Formats: sequence, structure tokens, C-alpha cells
Amino acid sequence: MKEIILCKYGEIVLKGANRGYFEDMLCKTLRRRAAHFGNFEVSRSQSTIYIEPKDDFADIDGMFAAASRVFGIIALNRAAVCEKNMDAIRDTAKEYIPQFLEGKRTFKVEGKRSDKRFPLDSMQLAREIGGAILSVCPRIKVDVHNPEVTVRVEIREAGAYVHAGQCAGAGGLPIGSAGNGLLLLSGGIDSPVAGWMMAKRGVRLEAIHFESFPYTSERARQKVLDLASIVAGWVGDINVHIVSLTHIQEELAKNCTEDYFTLLLRRYMMTIANRIAKERNCGALITGESLGQVASQTMQAISVTDAVTDMPVFRPCIGLDKEEIIRLSRKVGTFETSILPFEDCCTVFTPRHPKTRPEMEKVIAEEQKVDFEALVEEAIGTINTVRIMAEY
Ligand code: ATP
Ligand code: MG
Repeated sequence: MKEIILCKYGEIVLKGANRGYFEDMLCKTLRRRAAHFGNFEVSRSQSTIYIEPKDDFADIDGMFAAASRVFGIIALNRAAVCEKNMDAIRDTAKEYIPQFLEGKRTFKVEGKRSDKRFPLDSMQLAREIGGAILSVCPRIKVDVHNPEVTVRVEIREAGAYVHAGQCAGAGGLPIGSAGNGLLLLSGGIDSPVAGWMMAKRGVRLEAIHFESFPYTSERARQKVLDLASIVAGWVGDINVHIVSLTHIQEELAKNCTEDYFTLLLRRYMMTIANRIAKERNCGALITGESLGQVASQTMQAISVTDAVTDMPVFRPCIGLDKEEIIRLSRKVGTFETSILPFEDCCTVFTPRHPKTRPEMEKVIAEEQKVDFEALVEEAIGTINTVRIMAEY
């Protein structure tokens, strides 16, 4: 029996005149992903995307799992395909549907006739197919109001589709539809989640990671690349730009008041990220900050660090509690890696009493104790870009 994948998209249908652009983007993403799983054809019609295996080697299980991580799709299901005649549809339903009804007590059938030339209307179709299913699953009951399983039979242009058991898709908007963003990616829990949340809204990600070798280790770097790789499984390939902050941190430690170390360091990070974002054609920075989580994430501290940037800074975790961020990181798949205990450049040279209500003038006075511009230039010179290839 031939199976295909049907994908329904969400908000895209609200896009009016731009709808085609979003749909094409989504199909392109799905095609790129499908190429990893064999020979598939991806097409769209009537607000549905069809992913159809073209030979027996195509890995439909793998493709289904990959499609469930494509942003822009709200629901997907596998469906059996057959010819548009009642005998074929009845036989297909009898063969294909029982697996979805195992252990269930009630079901109903919904018919949908997009091809109005088909002789039975939706109600008749549902009744016929319901009867066919009951003939092979005699213990299950029909419940039209509150069924455990809804079986759908759709008569479309290209054929008839029989399916049950819809899965939730990843939601959001197609990757790239919102432009590019540069994610400040640490080894923590929050920043991979922040990147994922913005990618969900259509932002194509690049990442920048700051390290402080030898105060941070090779393993700490690898952990960040591993996190990028997990996120790439949702969003596609990611360039990770690695920048050394070692000299900056040493200069701050030598010349500045300890209480300001973190804030000063964050202004360097934002300055460097801002410049690299522009070079890389990114229109926004993305961080994993959450209001009040640590001293550098108070409202005053955030305004001090924001002052060095001239592009929007997206902080999708800003209103989330740690528990909520952790729940998302489990969903993304990064949690177990994030909690591996490696040092981060923010955890070396950490002040004992960081400023939680910094005053801008004092921060700037501290900053002027070193040659900010020269250190920024030097740090940008250390950039090393690693392309993380997505594994689906
Ligand atoms: P996370 O869990 O993402 O590490 P955090 O709660 O530990 O966040 P901070 O260390 O204060 O918070 O960092 C706040 C944000 O700054 C991070 O979410 C990340 O976006 C960015 N950031 C922190 N350290 C680095 C780093 N070494 N490289 C790149 N970005 C960083
Ligand atoms: Mg961190």
C-alpha cells in the first residue's frame, strides 16, 4: 500500500498576497530535508503539502520525523493513497486503519470531498467507510461527538487519502522568512532555547560563541558545537563564529574594578556580535537572557549592555521562568548537553559582588581604563568559523 505524508500549515494561510512566498519557502525546506531520506516529491495544493515517496527505498519514517521539526507546519500525518473509487477506498481503509484503532474504544469517520465530481457526498462517504472499518474491527464503537480516534477520508484532485491520528507539527513560520539573526550562543540552557524560539518565528540562525582559552577548555568549545548541532536538527546548517575574549578578560582583570567585570565583558560581547552580525547580513542579535535571572540581567544591566548595539536584540526568554526554559530545552533536545559541567568565559573572572544597578557613567569610566576599540579589533581578528551541518 502506498503511503504519503500530508502537512498542514498554520499562520501562513493568514499571509494574504505573500502566502505563495511562504509556501514556496516551506516546500524548499522540506525538499532539502527530504533529500536526506531518499527519493521524494514535495508538492502543494489546497493548503496542504504532500510528501510522496517515489520508490521503495525512500525512508518515510525518517522523513516523517524530520518533517515534524520543520517550522511552519502545524500538523502532519501519514496517509494511505488509493484510487478514487469506493471499492479501492473501502479496501484501503480496512487494511490501513485497524492499526490506529488498537486498544481504542470509539472512533468516527469524517469525509471530505474536495473533488465535487465524486459521486458520494461527505456524509455518505463517512458512513460507508465507517461501516467498512466496523466489519474488520467489530469491538470498536462509533461515537460522533467525542471519539478517541478520528479517521479521515479525503477525495482530492490526485486521488483518495485515508488517514487517522494527526501529529502536532513544530508550528511557527518557515526558516528564513523573517531574515537572519546572530545568536549569542553559550554552553548554558537558555541561549540554545532562545535561538530555537526565534528560528521558530522564521529567523535563519548564525551563531557567535565567545571563549577564553586557556581559561575555558577545548571540551567547553565542543559542548557549544554539540548544542549548535542539536539546534541545527531543527533549523538547518549553522555557522558558528568562535571569538577569543582571553586578552579582553585579562586586560579587564588587570585594569578595571572587579564589580564591573561582567558588565564590561557583556558590552564587548555585544559590540563584537553587532559588528559580525552586520558583516554577515544579520538584522538582529539573539540572546538567552531572562529578566532578573542573574546580576547582568536586571533591567539596568540590560540597558547598559544594549547601549553598545544599534540593531534589535531579541530576547525570547526574557519573560520565562527557568523551569519554563528547561521544559523547552528538553523539547529542543539540548538540556542534557547544556547541563554538562564545563566552564564558560562568563564564569571565569566572575566578580564576587557584581553590580545589579549599574550607572552608565561609572560603566563608561571603567571602560575607558582600557583601549576598548583596539581590544575589539583584536578579538574580531581571532574569529574562527565552524559550519555545523544539520543531521536530521
Ligand atoms: P545561558 O544559559 O544561555 O548560558 P545564562 O543564564 O548563563 O544563559 P549569562 O551567562 O548571563 O546567562 O548569559 C546571558 C546570555 O549571553 C546568554 O544566554 C547568551 O546569549 C549570551 N552569552 C553568555 N555567554 C556567552 C558566550 N560565552 N558566548 C556567546 N554568548 C554568550
Ligand atoms: Mg551562560
